[in-house]
Amino acid sequence: MSTNYEATSLRDSLCASVSVAHVGQRLAVCGWVAKRREHGEHLAFIDIRDRSGVIQAVVDGTVDVRNEYVVRVTGTVSRRPEGTVNDKLTTGEVELTECMVEILATAEAPPFQLDDRVDIDEQVRLRHRYLDLRREQMQKNLRLRAKVNAALRAAMDRQGFCEVETPLLWAPTPEGSREFVVPSRLHHGEFYVLPQSPQIAKQLLMVGGFDRYYQIARCMRDEDLRADRQFEFTQLDLEASFVSQIDILEFVSQAVLDAAEVATGERPSTIDTMTWAEAMNRYGVDKPDLRFGMTLQDLSDVFVGTEVKAFSAPTIKAMRVPQGAEFTRSRLDALTDRAKGLGAKGLAWFRITADGVDSPLDRFLSDHERDAIRRVDDAQPGDLVLIVADDYLLACKVLGALRVELGSPPVSQGPHRYVWVTEFPMYEGLDDDGNPVAAHHPFTMPHPDDIELMATDPLAVRSQAYDLVLNGWELGSGSVRIHRADIQSQVFATLGITPEEAENRFGFLLGAFKYGAPPHAGFAFGIDRLVAIFAGEENIREVIAFPKTQSGADLMTGAPKSIPDKQLKELHLKPVKGA
Ligand code: ASP
Repeated sequence: MSTNYEATSLRDSLCASVSVAHVGQRLAVCGWVAKRREHGEHLAFIDIRDRSGVIQAVVDGTVDVRNEYVVRVTGTVSRRPEGTVNDKLTTGEVELTECMVEILATAEAPPFQLDDRVDIDEQVRLRHRYLDLRREQMQKNLRLRAKVNAALRAAMDRQGFCEVETPLLWAPTPEGSREFVVPSRLHHGEFYVLPQSPQIAKQLLMVGGFDRYYQIARCMRDEDLRADRQFEFTQLDLEASFVSQIDILEFVSQAVLDAAEVATGERPSTIDTMTWAEAMNRYGVDKPDLRFGMTLQDLSDVFVGTEVKAFSAPTIKAMRVPQGAEFTRSRLDALTDRAKGLGAKGLAWFRITADGVDSPLDRFLSDHERDAIRRVDDAQPGDLVLIVADDYLLACKVLGALRVELGSPPVSQGPHRYVWVTEFPMYEGLDDDGNPVAAHHPFTMPHPDDIELMATDPLAVRSQAYDLVLNGWELGSGSVRIHRADIQSQVFATLGITPEEAENRFGFLLGAFKYGAPPHAGFAFGIDRLVAIFAGEENIREVIAFPKTQSGADLMTGAPKSIPDKQLKELHLKPVKGA
């Protein structure tokens, strides 16, 4: 045996480590019976499976084992007879012969075939997740995740970051999502909150002199679940002092590139950067998928003074859909409805033909306009050009959404294209009271060139917030934080947060800042999403050991569940009838 972390007092080797190098040796392996085939009355072939893979054991005589029995098999490593080598198995050239089989535990017939992924209903898988986890794919995914975590930790340690654990029972945090609350037994009628992120704790660590903090942190948000969102998720969370944006981008890039290298075997050369304004202009989204083209083109200048009534709008944005000319009329109608659903007044389409365009709007076009449409993104006959005429940002967003829906390759399709998106707007729209809403969180530092605009045109203020995006998925966000009381008060004022409210919600942080807050900045990115992309999985549930379903249920434990009256009483809780 080469390394021997595999050997224990019960076994000599993992199943898949047995190879021709061991021929002639007597070895013990342990695992589950994956398959059993009788060969006449006196010979049985049993596949033994453990976390590494499978080895075949040839058993003389009868042995009463069934699938999923837990066994220890001691046998002699032998070459398989000619003609029976199995190329699909790493152990396909060998088998264990003259076997002694000990049954360590019996098992009932499993509710689904553990070798076959394709046809198993996910509900059944989740109800018996412990069995599902035995399958090769889940073993691979969770081991990949462990490798990624190890690489991230190593990268952070190497860059001088200190791992600090922060509390799970905490006070409200400023991310603005709905929070999970935990009733206090000792404090009648009061509640803890499960942290949406360690945001405030990590900023306090900077005041506490830690200088570089990180944590593989669990975050909890009571928001609707989606393919890329669970109630609880894991972030690589970090914060550093005496830094600016560029330093954080570099720390995070190092960690992500290291993780990519261990996960894929290749280190991406760099991570591109683009501003939020550029991302919206070219891709119509703040998380651009750079794996494919179909970038948005601006035809506003071409259509100044046009005869096409539908195009008398401030912005005319166009997008080429390769081979889209073959879309049926009903598909084009459905696309138009979709665009309207997204807020556009309409969607114009133009099939590119060998000598012109095919579209109901063709007869209104000038030669110059038709020419411009035919040249969009180097369009060729057989392509389709879609146009949205509207306010600038709306036109970008509508085509951006259609671009993703029409063009996104599956998650499993490479390459991995990372991009930093910087200079996010400080505020996104207005709330019901007419106050701007913080796009990131209220401790984000405005762009230094835009501080003046805070009073006059808050929606035009850029922030020092940045996102990391991979193949159209937002991996994470961060920002340079406000460490100066004057700027912080100004931001609170713009957000409509009164000094009393600020004191009430974040008093302990603002109080701490009075004792010397270093300039600091940070970031957090979702490990579930990163690993899902590395594993080529569309849903993050596939890289989480015990996930919740779309409706927030844990099918295995039955959570959430009611609790006994005695426990409710202790917590000073009373269920409301009919609620
Ligand atoms: N706490 C933020 C988040 O979870 C990340 C950060 O600003 O560091 O999105």
